[in-house]
Amino acid sequence: MSWHVLGAGSLGCLWAARLQQAGQTVSLIMRPPRLARFQAADGRLLFTNLQEHTRSVPVHAETASSQQPIQRLILACKAYSATEAIAGIRHRLLPGTEVILLQNGIGSQQQVSRTLPDCRVLVASTTEGAWLKDDFHCVHAGAGQTQFGSLNHKASPPDWLHRLKDYAIPCQWQPDIHGVLWRKLATNCLINPLTVIYNCRNGALVQYLPRIRQLADELEQLLQAAGQHKAAEDLYGHVRQVIDSTAANTSSMLQDVQQQRRTEISYITGFALHQARALEAPHQQLLALHQELQQCLVRLHLPAD
Ligand code: NAP
Repeated sequence: MSWHVLGAGSLGCLWAARLQQAGQTVSLIMRPPRLARFQAADGRLLFTNLQEHTRSVPVHAETASSQQPIQRLILACKAYSATEAIAGIRHRLLPGTEVILLQNGIGSQQQVSRTLPDCRVLVASTTEGAWLKDDFHCVHAGAGQTQFGSLNHKASPPDWLHRLKDYAIPCQWQPDIHGVLWRKLATNCLINPLTVIYNCRNGALVQYLPRIRQLADELEQLLQAAGQHKAAEDLYGHVRQVIDSTAANTSSMLQDVQQQRRTEISYITGFALHQARALEAPHQQLLALHQELQQCLVRLHLPAD
């Protein structure tokens, strides 16, 4: 089976390395400067798995500009790059090409889907964690699961899904992927911005529980207004659990800030705020959080969107 993975970042390298090790035909798509560096590194990824074994994995790599048609594409860039990345590879996508979106937050999936009416677009939400120790050295740091679904409720699971399990890639088909995305969005809204504002690891957020409670109440009302009743259930209790179980972790948004990289704020608090306004749900706390986060980013000379 043939897979193209666009984006040689943390998740892109994780997917490319695992699929390649499972004997799949994989091509990793990267921009020309990164491709030159990859070729200079012998066209190999270093992959450290959950058992902390590191292997060197040869992977075919190319730029988006090749003309070869794509059967199945995993889009592994940040949410703010997704539409532009798809535009750059559009000429290689045929009617029926599968496009799998790994982006965090909500909004980019809909933006991309609208530009690909003839493709089979699947959305994924993952609790796996990966980071790059170095260019092309991917560390699989957190076990988790990837849930796949379609924005179109009538879609059925792809036939390759059960095979991912054979390749030791934990995954599941999720008929209600919207609910999964909203629950994760609300959780991210409650953890990521506060870790940046207070410059702390997830566990230190226990000092700010009254603020988290107020925000959770507001976000629950937003989820209800959006018709996401299941995703709204005991949001505060869920976030308390996530804070405890990830106490030692640095949130993805704080990691981006620490590395002076643009954050995905527009697809997290930005999206939630936009929806709250559209649905006329209360959003005083959320607005204050979003603005405080933006001020923080500006102070750090990072984009506020
Ligand atoms: P990342 O490490 O920043 O990687 C993104 C990669 O996409 C970069 O290498 C970037 O290349 C590449 N890219 C962007 N536009 C491109 C284009 N037009 N052509 C070719 N390459 C392009 O990000 P990540 O951590 O893998 O995250 C990807 C998404 O998964 C995010 O939405 C993130 O929130 C989500 N996610 C990540 C994790 C995780 O553990 N890492 C977990 C859950 C969810 P350049 O550097 O050359 O721009």
